[in-house]
Amino acid sequence: MAPAIFLKIKQRVSLAVTYLGYWYGYLLIPLIPLFYATYHFGWHWSIPLAAVLTGLLFIDLARHFSQTRLIGPIIQRVDTEEKLIALTFDDGPNPPFTEEILAELTRHEAKATFFMIGEEAEKHPETVAAVLKQGSQVGNHGWSHRHLLGKTPFGVSREIKRTDQLLQNLGSQKLIPFRAPYAAQFISVPLVLALMQKPNVMFDVSPDDWRGEKAKVIADRVLCQVQPGSIVLLHDGGGDRKETVKAVRMILMALSKQGYRFVTTETLMAVGPTQS
Ligand SMILES: [Zn+2]
Repeated sequence: MAPAIFLKIKQRVSLAVTYLGYWYGYLLIPLIPLFYATYHFGWHWSIPLAAVLTGLLFIDLARHFSQTRLIGPIIQRVDTEEKLIALTFDDGPNPPFTEEILAELTRHEAKATFFMIGEEAEKHPETVAAVLKQGSQVGNHGWSHRHLLGKTPFGVSREIKRTDQLLQNLGSQKLIPFRAPYAAQFISVPLVLALMQKPNVMFDVSPDDWRGEKAKVIADRVLCQVQPGSIVLLHDGGGDRKETVKAVRMILMALSKQGYRFVTTETLMAVGPTQS
């Protein structure tokens, strides 16, 4: 097992790089025509160029360093001393792995949150019903799992509403939290979520189980990084999840022994202030 501090630093850096990468990628779009105009029509075109750059950088700095953010918060964990953890599973429902995870959860009287892709939920309504019956929460992970960065607010809204509608038809009666595919956070996503008053639930612990590593590696990463109030990102969807199922068993056993309880993101968010 690598030292916990090393893993913690690595995780912070990779999360920061992900967010910065998504955001700065967008700077290129207004810059291309402005650079072109400066080159062809003269220096005064560099004034709007500088204004756009400064504006975007300012918004970005405010977004990264303000607790409240410009448009809506991103919830990464909850500030609490209670030993509560929210396990979350993305990209399902994906039988039989979702059901196997549910069985592990039930064995430990644990609940989790499953951020489902609308298209997959449509294919496996019985698995959605099984998640709800077990007492876990369903979340919305977009309809198509397409990247939302290139979408207009209307496109983002359609992805969210269509999935919400299906999950409600399949029995979800609670507020359905959202998690953007690929953690995309550009303006359209937080804007639409703010208008819908929908929480944007991210995570503070990410063991990268989608890489297909062994269960022990996945579980050790989680055990090193969790603290009271953590939100853990795992995947029940996206292919063969045998190792994730085994890792969930290990995580539940180890953390239960340490006195942790496993709750839905909704329960977790009710016990303390959320942190971005
Ligand atoms: Zn996903």
